[in-house]
Amino acid sequence: MSKFVGAHVSASGGVFNAVENAVAIGAKAFALFTKNQRQWSAKELDSETIDKFKEALDKSGILPKHILPHDSYLINLGHPEADKREKSMDAFLDEVQRCELLGLDRLNFHPGSHLKKISEDESLDKIADAMNRTLDKTSGVSLVLENTAGQGSNLGWKFEHLAQIIDKVEDKSRVGVCIDTCHMFTAGYDIRTREAYDKTWSEFDKVIGFKYLMGMHINDSKAKFASRVDRHHSLGKGEIGLDAFRFIMNDKRMDDIPLILETIDDSIWKEEIELLYSFVD
Ligand SMILES: [Zn+2]
Ligand SMILES: [Zn+2]
Repeated sequence: MSKFVGAHVSASGGVFNAVENAVAIGAKAFALFTKNQRQWSAKELDSETIDKFKEALDKSGILPKHILPHDSYLINLGHPEADKREKSMDAFLDEVQRCELLGLDRLNFHPGSHLKKISEDESLDKIADAMNRTLDKTSGVSLVLENTAGQGSNLGWKFEHLAQIIDKVEDKSRVGVCIDTCHMFTAGYDIRTREAYDKTWSEFDKVIGFKYLMGMHINDSKAKFASRVDRHHSLGKGEIGLDAFRFIMNDKRMDDIPLILETIDDSIWKEEIELLYSFVD
């Protein structure tokens, strides 16, 4: 087995519950929030919670490298205002430290937004600077930039944005990217046909490089191609269609990384995971 498919499962009631929620849907990978994603602060992880998480993980057979924790939606490392960016950096450091405590090796986050108050380049510089500062204070956790759909002033929808950030990160061994298929598609990177798929990924390889690919979000899209709108859909029900997911499941470049569903109907995640595995030739 070389593909590790799962979903962004609930950690409600404690991070250890995420492991059981993943196992229940036949997942071999999963994503979770290690704290409430809509709040700035959270209770520290106590040793009992950490032990329970690690025990559940051991029992499940899921490896830390197949877990892709996601940070809070409130964090904006590219924020134009110093005090707000400072608050984001504090919260981001806490997120990375929570991963350290749980024995996880990567944290997925959205690069940030310039809020139309500073230039793209200035905001991208701020993001890289915040990453460098966070990396200096932590160890063992890679920072995984997610591509976005490019709604509003969100950066990271162009491969070039991600490449520009990576270029300014000092420790390249602790930076990676997570490519969300829905975001990629609505940002203008087509993957619907064999030809389009190959073209998009060769551009990815040229601009960013497969060595940085540390995870994927596997979503169909309600929004149209190149619409810059972020609306996920269940696999095969949206504008992307199933072929793209068939290509991914047979693409060795996506081996051994977490492939995470963030599709809208969690009651069919088990079937969606089975469907994806059925695509493997
Ligand atoms: Zn995503
Ligand atoms: Zn999204």
